[in-house]
Amino acid sequence: MLTSSFLTQGPEVKLFESALQEFTGAEFAVAVNSATSALHIACLALGVEPGDHVWTSAISFVASANAAKYCGAEVDFVDIDSETFNMCPLALESKLVEARDSEKPLPKVVIPVAMAGQSPEMLEIRKLSKEFGFKVLEDASHALGARYRSNQVGSCEFSDVVVFSFHPVKMITTGEGGACLTRSAEIAERLRRLRSHGITRDPSQMSIANPEPWYYEQLELGFNYRITDFQCALGRSQLQRLDEFVRERNRLAALYSSSLLFDWLLLPKVRHERLSSFHLFIVRFDETAPLTRNEAAQKMRSRGLAVNLHYIPIYRQPYYEMSGQFDPSSFPNSERYYSAALTLPLYPGMDESVIRDVHEVLAS
Ligand SMILES: *Cc1c(COP(=O)(O)O)cnc(C)c1O
Repeated sequence: MLTSSFLTQGPEVKLFESALQEFTGAEFAVAVNSATSALHIACLALGVEPGDHVWTSAISFVASANAAKYCGAEVDFVDIDSETFNMCPLALESKLVEARDSEKPLPKVVIPVAMAGQSPEMLEIRKLSKEFGFKVLEDASHALGARYRSNQVGSCEFSDVVVFSFHPVKMITTGEGGACLTRSAEIAERLRRLRSHGITRDPSQMSIANPEPWYYEQLELGFNYRITDFQCALGRSQLQRLDEFVRERNRLAALYSSSLLFDWLLLPKVRHERLSSFHLFIVRFDETAPLTRNEAAQKMRSRGLAVNLHYIPIYRQPYYEMSGQFDPSSFPNSERYYSAALTLPLYPGMDESVIRDVHEVLAS
């Protein structure tokens, strides 16, 4: 370690990255200190610059949109599918067609989000990316261990870059952490450089020939987004338990679904050819429910059940709202979701009595 250069990441970082590559099937993994950092440098590596346009899903954590803002881009949102809560490919298509026909700017990058651990309709989104010329950056912060068609989420079959989060509440943790997966050597190299101040030690990229061994060059403005060796050692041992975590979450989700049989309660639907990682278990209350979502949430909280709402539509956040750009009525599915959705407790090792308690509140 003492002889390695100060720009080099420790051996555990490489090992963790190799484990992520092997697990997902993508050629390159670049581990960083958070998924937010990963999304930021992924946007930069995909060429997002001031004045560019980036579209993401209206229902996500704010980081999915903020990443584009860090690059000086304009952000717009696409409405969700009312069954999967993922970016609706039909809504995306009609927004693209409308932009093209009215000669409004098309997005340089689109960021679909694997809500709750279920892959978006990547095949359809990839088709649109080819037709309309945007890059696909998949925010799979929820979905490590999930599958789509014949691949792991993260394989990058239909995405230019896929991002994972290793925050403590996500599928595996490194304390804080994130990673970018890609099939492009060029993108991976740019990500590595941006992770560490924009500096390179690769002589082939330098402005002088035969540099001294201590010589390095900063080629662009990068960041310190490095993850530590300690964190990656934890990540690697966590990754070995991922299958167990996914199985356990799916088992608890199936228990919820077989226990919460109320005709006014909509249960999560996992589409054909997908395995959800079930990072979140989200139900929705329809208009005929004997208690409102808010009443149910209050009752559950008072019984110590940690229910939550993932997420408030990003366009409703004051920071985004103040632009005056977004009309909630253009996102009808997101608005309905916001008024009706509730995330129930779900984590590996959760006692099944939690499910009975939730049932009891809903049945009362
Ligand atoms: C958690 C999360 C992030 C941010 O992850 P960090 O590792 O905390 O930066 C981004 N997008 C989504 C969808 C998330 O759930």
